[in-house]
Amino acid sequence: MSTCQKTPYSTHAQAQAALDRAVQEHKRTGRGGKSWKRLNVYRCKNCSMWHLGRANSYEAAPKQPGPKPLTAGQQRRAEKKAAEKAAHQALYADYVDTLRICRLLADRQMALYAALGVKPLPVTKPEERV
Ligand SMILES: [Zn+2]
Repeated sequence: MSTCQKTPYSTHAQAQAALDRAVQEHKRTGRGGKSWKRLNVYRCKNCSMWHLGRANSYEAAPKQPGPKPLTAGQQRRAEKKAAEKAAHQALYADYVDTLRICRLLADRQMALYAALGVKPLPVTKPEERV
């Protein structure tokens, strides 16, 4: 069950008593400098017993708050914008299809002219036309 190297205490009170003894010992002997100041009692996540130890690592930074919820006005404007975008997309939904059909019709007409032996007109720019 326990893989911990530290001395386990079954209750917080026992661990606290051991901590008090350890602090007194450190203060009396001066061994370890002031390191006893950070000694603490904590419940182990591995063995769920109590140990003495130090919080040597920094605590995880508090989570950044998520994005603020939209206000009623922002929500209303976002809905209006989404509706306008959907309407605009519906307006041009068949645009690509229209282009494809135009190309098909133009190709068909060119094939017809070629079959009839009609010589295609030379391509002129609009400003060159009279
Ligand atoms: Zn443990």
